[in-house]
Amino acid sequence: MSDHRIVTLGTAGGPRWWTPLDAHSRFGISTAVAVGDRVYLVDAGLGAGRQFARAGFTMDRLGGVFLTHLHSDHTTDLLNLALFGMFGLTGDEPRIPIIGPGDRGALPPVSARATVPPRPVAPQLPTPGTADMFRLLMESQATDLNDRVLDALRPSPTELFEARDIVIPGGLGYHPNDAPTPDMAPFTVFEDDRVRVDAVLVQHPPIAPAFGFRFTSDEGSVAISGDTAKCDNMVRLAEGVDLLLHEAISFDWVASTYGGRDDETSRASIDHHRRSHTSVEEAIAVAHEAGAARLALHHLVPGHLPTESWLRAVAVAGAELEVVVPADLETVSFARQRALAF
Ligand SMILES: [Zn+2]
Ligand SMILES: [Zn+2]
Repeated sequence: MSDHRIVTLGTAGGPRWWTPLDAHSRFGISTAVAVGDRVYLVDAGLGAGRQFARAGFTMDRLGGVFLTHLHSDHTTDLLNLALFGMFGLTGDEPRIPIIGPGDRGALPPVSARATVPPRPVAPQLPTPGTADMFRLLMESQATDLNDRVLDALRPSPTELFEARDIVIPGGLGYHPNDAPTPDMAPFTVFEDDRVRVDAVLVQHPPIAPAFGFRFTSDEGSVAISGDTAKCDNMVRLAEGVDLLLHEAISFDWVASTYGGRDDETSRASIDHHRRSHTSVEEAIAVAHEAGAARLALHHLVPGHLPTESWLRAVAVAGAELEVVVPADLETVSFARQRALAF
């Protein structure tokens, strides 16, 4: 049996430098999915490139980068991965796909709590998808890259990587504002000689589209929720999976952080977290409903809460399957261990 494991490169959620920077601090969300000698990256949060190297992986083993959605805590190290990672590649390798959401297609509605209508950033291209984002990131570094390309004769990241937008199947009634998470069956977004990667739309408004991914090989499967409230599509994606990695948030922390202030910004923040994230109890419920063999909680918010607090929440919720709360750079197997029922 070949290697089937995930390595948690970073397990914190949210666009924050979580402080205090002590033993509990975690890097931004990013997960390596290792299948044999190849590795795939799901999300590229703070420190993903550094942690990828620290986990012992090399760029020539990277089979693809998958972005669940385009919130900055999932994408902020994509730039580093391309600019520093290019020195681990010769240009003779196949281009590494970067696969993620397409252009949102419409701005989100302005909050009903707004007193003055906010002005959008970059109105000429206000909701770029994965392909546009990668192009713009590389263009922003043209001074550096043209040194490398013209003087040092290095292949440019634009030749080493290929950023692609996921095309959402038609006929679902999907709309970024009106119906961002229609009921759907998983659909395939990538396949090579090692794995098939399927996706579903998950519930993380107002961002859209937001995906959960599932990697399936002959020897095991792992589903990764991305950011989502508890949702039926995720249950379908994770059906019978060997390992489910699901996000978890502490709503106690949300209430203590935003609940004390009586202003529109605080109320909007509490609303956002309730509609878009999952408690420990709900993550366990998703794992139960899907019949997952094992659950790992990650994308932990807040990122500085001691692991014991998460484990306490798991114990209070009660679970009929193994639940782990890995630290950064921990390995969790997704090799199939159950006998298949025929
Ligand atoms: Zn996030
Ligand atoms: Zn998010």
